[in-house]
Amino acid sequence: MSNKKRVYSFGNKVAEGNGKMKELLGGKGANLAEMNLIGIPVPPGFTITTEVCTEFYDHGKEATVASMDAEVRAAMKKMEQTMGMEFGSNTNPLLVSVRSGARVSMPGMMDTILNLGLNDQAVEGIAKKSGNDRFAWDSYRRFVQMYGDVVLGMKPESKEDHDPFEEIIDHLKEEKGIKNDTDFTVDDLKLLVQKFKAAVKEKTGKEFPTDPWEQLAGAVCAVFESWMNPRACLYRQMHKYPAEWGTAVNVQAMVFGNMGNGSATGVAFTRDASTGENIFNGEYLINAQGEDVVAGIRTPQEVTLEGSRRWAALQGVSEDERASKYPSLEETMPTAYAELFAIQNHLETYFKDMQDIEFTIQDGKLWMLQTRSGKRTGAAMVRMAVEMCKEGLIDEPTAVLRVEPAKLDELLHPVFDKKAIGLAKVLGKGLPASPGAATGQIVFFADDAHEWAEKGHKVILVRVETSPEDLKGMNAAEGILTARGGMTSHAAVVARGMGKCCVSGVGALEINYKTRTMTIGGKEYKEGDWISLNGSTGEVYDGKVATEAAELSGDFGELMAMAAKYAKMKVRTNADTPKDAAVAFAFGAEGIGLCRTEHMFFEGDRINAVREMILADDEAGRRVALDKLLPIQREDFEGIFEAMNGYPVTVRLLDPPLHEFVPHFEKEQTELGKLLGKSVEIIKAKIENLIEVNPMLGHRGCRLGNTYPEITEMQTRAIIEAALNVTAKGVPVNIEIMVPLVGNHKEFKYQKNVIDTTAEQVFAERKKRIDYMVGTMIEVPRAAVTANEIAEFAEFFSFGTNDLTQMTLGFSRDDIAKFLPIYLEKGILKVDPFQTLDVKGVGQLLREGVFKGRSTRPELKCGICGEHGGDPASVEFCHYAGLNYVSCSPFRVPIARLAAAHAAIKQAGK
Ligand code: PEP
Ligand code: MG
Repeated sequence: MSNKKRVYSFGNKVAEGNGKMKELLGGKGANLAEMNLIGIPVPPGFTITTEVCTEFYDHGKEATVASMDAEVRAAMKKMEQTMGMEFGSNTNPLLVSVRSGARVSMPGMMDTILNLGLNDQAVEGIAKKSGNDRFAWDSYRRFVQMYGDVVLGMKPESKEDHDPFEEIIDHLKEEKGIKNDTDFTVDDLKLLVQKFKAAVKEKTGKEFPTDPWEQLAGAVCAVFESWMNPRACLYRQMHKYPAEWGTAVNVQAMVFGNMGNGSATGVAFTRDASTGENIFNGEYLINAQGEDVVAGIRTPQEVTLEGSRRWAALQGVSEDERASKYPSLEETMPTAYAELFAIQNHLETYFKDMQDIEFTIQDGKLWMLQTRSGKRTGAAMVRMAVEMCKEGLIDEPTAVLRVEPAKLDELLHPVFDKKAIGLAKVLGKGLPASPGAATGQIVFFADDAHEWAEKGHKVILVRVETSPEDLKGMNAAEGILTARGGMTSHAAVVARGMGKCCVSGVGALEINYKTRTMTIGGKEYKEGDWISLNGSTGEVYDGKVATEAAELSGDFGELMAMAAKYAKMKVRTNADTPKDAAVAFAFGAEGIGLCRTEHMFFEGDRINAVREMILADDEAGRRVALDKLLPIQREDFEGIFEAMNGYPVTVRLLDPPLHEFVPHFEKEQTELGKLLGKSVEIIKAKIENLIEVNPMLGHRGCRLGNTYPEITEMQTRAIIEAALNVTAKGVPVNIEIMVPLVGNHKEFKYQKNVIDTTAEQVFAERKKRIDYMVGTMIEVPRAAVTANEIAEFAEFFSFGTNDLTQMTLGFSRDDIAKFLPIYLEKGILKVDPFQTLDVKGVGQLLREGVFKGRSTRPELKCGICGEHGGDPASVEFCHYAGLNYVSCSPFRVPIARLAAAHAAIKQAGK
């Protein structure tokens, strides 16, 4: 193994690392170092680098432990000097925490061990030194339990099995008739430690390790191992983080929030992670350790007085009751609170972002255990970015980059229909852990949530509390409801990160996993029953409640205006109706990049005229039917041109295979026969004749227009006449006629000839002209590589990356679901190529198409109208490929606009 530095010390306001070293030290390690450098009180410690994690997977446990041993011992020496304590001492033992810390935060996905260094002798030393037996034995009890679970594999395999340690605890509680852990006596705790160790011996066949150095090596390796646990792997897959990153391990001197009533521990945010409001907020527990807050075992209290009052108002708790039973930290420990308030201010100003902080107060002394940029909802993300920019904390480009484009999706999601919610029966109330509206069928297990959702059910995952194992089910559910836990519980933090509606800590909710039932509001609900959740108020409702589109805040508009200043590419929309066009226009679309005219054919009884055209015996018969379609198409185009008021509208000529329009069931075939005056046998025979082995590669696209030019004639006439009619009303039009599925420049040339000839005829008839452009889609690989030839005739290109992906990868658009999950699981594909552009393959063709097209026609306008036009990563690629615009579905327009701004800002070197 190499000589590189594996261990970085920090403490006492000095550090070997710093905040920029996230890749090597992980986010937590880098920020712990940085906090020391800016004078924040942090318990001393050291970080073992992410590179050691890679070594662990390459060379195994023994070699890794040996390679870092000297550095670890030297770093421990420094900690001992700072703390005036000794690791492994029986009289003055230094205890440590061992925590994971990847370069990005992965809340609760990996393992942590606290109070490491305890054994039967050290516990006595701690008891003597602190004068607090209860604290010493409680710490020991926790350590044996955590170490047993994480390092010695005591955690149960199945979610329905009980944790053996919890069983021992429950048993003793029952025996003694006590309810809370805090009611245990010192003798009870001693007994628990003894029983825990016996359980370890029984299950593993080995004694619980007593040597602190052995404990440390075991814990560090267990943290490395947890990098590859299934929930961490799933989390990385969901966020597209590579496994090669590895995790760092932070070993830090323990400070104790469970030393008595002068001690506490908590989690806080410098702004509200749910709404974005600029208000310090958080939760704490007196006489507790960090895991108690996060696990949601005891419901914590608010840190600030303001937060506590808001909480009481929401819960209907009187001020007197609040102040006596649930006081804030600001009230219980005013000095430590004042210091915490100043530090959170310092941290936010220093890191220039909302911080998620962990703190512990040991006997009145405040220690900061962690700071990191806090996860937040989409709405909070937008509000914070805009407000921090106005406050002068960050500049405009930074504010734009702060908002993840995909997160805007949350803002655009539905909320409850106001009328329906007025009528809905409220069953109970919990904490508004993650905003949004959700309605679905109750399931009690994460696996069920996943399975039911796969079958197309909308589900609400109901749990006493969630744990990282539930991630997959939480992801599949519409919403999450928990009986326990606060705003910083696992369920709340993870749901917020996912942008998923969550109501937590509903005290009135009783869950019975065995019978798969729950009781709330005096009513029993079974698995499969419907309930609804309001993640913004914390309310739980009976049954299904209708939803409606979200309302956008002023901050959203301001963010979009900022983004528009920086984006180079325009964003258009794919819309086939004036209504869709209007929605997209309101979201800032600057034109229609794809109007699929076949979608206009399905509505009302116009489908009959289309069927008549398709089933006609000859050209004359087709023309009769086309004459019926002409006025309908013309009217549709008029509506769209008017709605877009001079913005470009790309109208694509008829594309899909003809058999998609004809009926396939006998009843409808008979009716159609009657309508067309033909026998059902003739209709059937004609329909059979249309069936293709490979319709996606069959008689579609420009092949239709080239075999039946009268279709192109009718569509061109409808477009040009509509444009003339609209301009006559004084409304400007800007039309682009687009030919689909071209693979050979001659296919395009033929179509352009039909279009131009028809347009000239209309101009002659109406004695008026308008400008129009004729261009093509580039969606056949051959078109991309011969784009220089096509551009001799085509005035614009629009990359149809749906078909281009299908034909380049050879994956059927309609059948990919059969193998995609396995390909993703095996890592053959990183993402669905129909969602995010395959940059290496399809992207290369796109670049080539742009390059060759512009080599013939330098001013060639190029855009994209495949689904990728609304995918942030693909939009960034399009920016670098030099496209003039992207076009996507109306609700993705804001996402694409923001992604376009991100690309431009990043390219400018921000
Ligand atoms: C495409 O192929 O990318 C495209 C936009 O056309 P359609 O999805 O209608 O085939
Ligand atoms: Mg296509």
